[in-house]
Amino acid sequence: MVEKMRILVAGGAGFLGSHLCGRLLSEGHEVICLDNLHTGSTQNLRSFIDQPRFQMMQADVGEPLPGLRVDRIYNLACPASPQHYQSDPIATMKTNVFGAINLLDLAVKCGARILQASTSEVYGEPLVHPQPEDYRGNVSITGIRACYDEGKRAAETLFYDYHRMHGVDIRVARIFNTYGPGMRADDGRVVSNFVVQALKGEPLTIYGDGSQTRSFCYRDDLVLGLLALMETPEAEATPINLGNPGEFTVRELAELVLELTGSASRLDFLPLPQDDPTQRRPDISLAQSVLKWQPRIALRDGLLPTIRYFDACLSGLAQPV
Ligand code: UDP
Repeated sequence: MVEKMRILVAGGAGFLGSHLCGRLLSEGHEVICLDNLHTGSTQNLRSFIDQPRFQMMQADVGEPLPGLRVDRIYNLACPASPQHYQSDPIATMKTNVFGAINLLDLAVKCGARILQASTSEVYGEPLVHPQPEDYRGNVSITGIRACYDEGKRAAETLFYDYHRMHGVDIRVARIFNTYGPGMRADDGRVVSNFVVQALKGEPLTIYGDGSQTRSFCYRDDLVLGLLALMETPEAEATPINLGNPGEFTVRELAELVLELTGSASRLDFLPLPQDDPTQRRPDISLAQSVLKWQPRIALRDGLLPTIRYFDACLSGLAQPV
């Protein structure tokens, strides 16, 4: 029997947050979703928004928060697509730093356990491959990605300082590239861009020569990893990588999307954005040993429902979000 809890999900109307809210509700918990709806949308919540155990609170995590009593806090509040987080980099830094402080203060007040959605971006342009958690990273301090990378690094620091100073029960997940149904068609990240472009018969926009690599984790696998991290007592001592270690070049991804969609779109090669990491792959040994978690869904298998989802969005059968 799972203990029924009151759980706050900051960023709960986003791609991952909304799926997490749905999972927590299905386990019988009470869920409060806090979101400023900047990149998130109530469309993502439509299958459970009317449930009595669910509450939507439109607020900015970087502003003073209302008094709440909760048992668990998940902090997923921050735009995650480079296109979105770079559109207002100062707001991105504020969301990460002030958001972490506000939620950690709330955790102190109510004695809640709190999980930070950190990122593989803390490793920057990694000089160690694959990336284990004890690798300290190679992040540009002044580049266009720094607002996100350094914001997330500062949030991790705050989590460990609150843990040492106030005894807060913390968890830190370093999330690698994640995809799946529910992404915005205009999200700007590579999986949604390629699938939407292929379905529309438009050229697939490869930045650079497409030799850079990423490791893509399906949404459902990732959410199970977050739940395991939150509820595993031994997980407090260290940040834990959550991602799929299957590594693909961007060009390989484009070719797989063309194969699975049957699209005749061509490949367009565009300039590589500044500071775009050359390679990225999680070492998930810790997640496997401490959480007993590993992803189950291969890229090919996860792309199929993702393609069906975007196809339905484009033909007006599902609501694009
Ligand atoms: N990318 C691409 N075409 C696109 C979008 C992204 O080639 O239309 C590349 C991007 O330059 C990066 C990789 O795909 O090398 C992953 O980009 P994304 O924005 O999905 O996530 P990131 O890992 O960079 O945060």
